[in-house]
Amino acid sequence: MQGTRVVVVGGGMAGLVAARQVAKVGMSVTLLEAADTVGGCVRSVDIEGVLYDAGADRFPAEGAVRELVRDLGLDDDIVPLRSDRTWIVGQKAAGPLPADTILGIPANPWSVESRRLIGWRGAWRAFLDRLRPPLTIGHQHNLATLVSSRMGDRVLGRMVAPLAAGLFGVAPEEVDVDKAAPGISAALTRTGSLGGAVGALLGENPRTAHVSLRGGVHRLAAALANDVSALADVRVGAQVTSATHDGAQWRVRTVEEEWEADLLIVATDAAAADHILAAGVPADPEVAVVTLATLMPPPPRSPRVFPMAWPAPTVALPGEEWEWVKQESGTRTLVRLIVPEPSEDEFATVAQAVEQATSLLGVSELEVVAHTVTRLPRAAPSSVTETVRGDERERWKTSPHLAVVGQWIAGSGLEQVVADSRAEADALRHRAIWGNTPQS
Ligand SMILES: Cc1cc2nc3c(=O)[nH]c(=O)nc-3n(C[C@H](O)[C@H](O)[C@H](O)COP(=O)(O)OP(=O)(O)OC[C@H]3O[C@@H](n4cnc5c(N)ncnc54)[C@H](O)[C@@H]3O)c2cc1C
Repeated sequence: MQGTRVVVVGGGMAGLVAARQVAKVGMSVTLLEAADTVGGCVRSVDIEGVLYDAGADRFPAEGAVRELVRDLGLDDDIVPLRSDRTWIVGQKAAGPLPADTILGIPANPWSVESRRLIGWRGAWRAFLDRLRPPLTIGHQHNLATLVSSRMGDRVLGRMVAPLAAGLFGVAPEEVDVDKAAPGISAALTRTGSLGGAVGALLGENPRTAHVSLRGGVHRLAAALANDVSALADVRVGAQVTSATHDGAQWRVRTVEEEWEADLLIVATDAAAADHILAAGVPADPEVAVVTLATLMPPPPRSPRVFPMAWPAPTVALPGEEWEWVKQESGTRTLVRLIVPEPSEDEFATVAQAVEQATSLLGVSELEVVAHTVTRLPRAAPSSVTETVRGDERERWKTSPHLAVVGQWIAGSGLEQVVADSRAEADALRHRAIWGNTPQS
């Protein structure tokens, strides 16, 4: 194991976790990151001298990320959400999503909050769910079909679709019910209705809370990078252009240098993996994260607003979500938009963001005093969608000296990325030593 040379390409969370995993058993690791800093989608932006999260800003309170946080000595900095209220705003209706929903499906479509979004007509249609036999449509995996057939198109279009788009960046047709809400089909059969199933599941399983770190989740990437730097050679500004295996070892090239390695871990985004490995993988779409510092007071539509129409930006007020942001931003109200399909032109992107934020927040003016734009790749989430390129990974397993990790193959989300990267790096290490993959 000592003396085994490993090159990790990409220094996002996947690459950092994988590098740590192989370096801590004594392998000789070089991590090559194209950007001038590691972290990838877990990165900060500087607004008027304060660092805030540009990309990921939360993680589940329990699981692989929490374990990593603990390992890196950051447990005392974990902070809870101040509010996770989500508003849904469309041309015909606007209001907060009721608390008693799963994936936007209401336990009670008659509640005042549900009716504000779907109207009396939508509530009467959703009520049919209680009257229809549970098995008329059989076991339904497709969220859109399940919701529209049982509760109608208003619940689908005004509650479920905006949530799927806002949270996961996908249409409800792409969401697999059993993955996204395990147990809901069985509860439907048990209780006789979809609304009843939502009510039963909410009572049985408290939802996993999301938490953050005081000072931002980017501190996790920084602490991890620090840890990895003590064990491995971390190079930034090193964009890998190719990696080939000559039968004995890998040759990994940047424009200026070449590295030889026994094992290779590719931890880039899809576009770069396609280029490096000639993989035939389509690039993931890019989103622009626009952060605005404004002089307006926090509006009632807070802290998060999702549009009914799609694709359109989602809006959040980080200071209303996290106490530390409120304190740091002082007299400013921060507004953060995630803009799908952004214009190439930065000015146009910001102008679109300001216009959308004004309309979604229902304010007359934002009074922007500073702004930043960060472009990031956004992969589909494996936690709710059926297949996330699992077949691509099978192709890579033909080389025992290679691991391919990252959100494009594991599915977006820190929990998926961290757990998957750790497992794949361990499997690679195991193959290198024992010549096979451990049985799970
Ligand atoms: C706007 C946004 C908000 C999000 N919010 C959350 C959240 O709140 N919670 C959550 O759990 N998840 C969130 N996610 C998802 C999560 O951030 C990602 O799934 C995760 O960080 C991806 O990590 P990664 O290492 O797979 O990829 P990346 O972070 O994309 O890292 C890939 C790295 O590879 C480098 N690279 C690319 N090409 C090369 C090359 N040729 N040579 C060398 N290096 C290269 C890149 O520069 C980059 O640093 C969010 C994602 C986005 C886009």
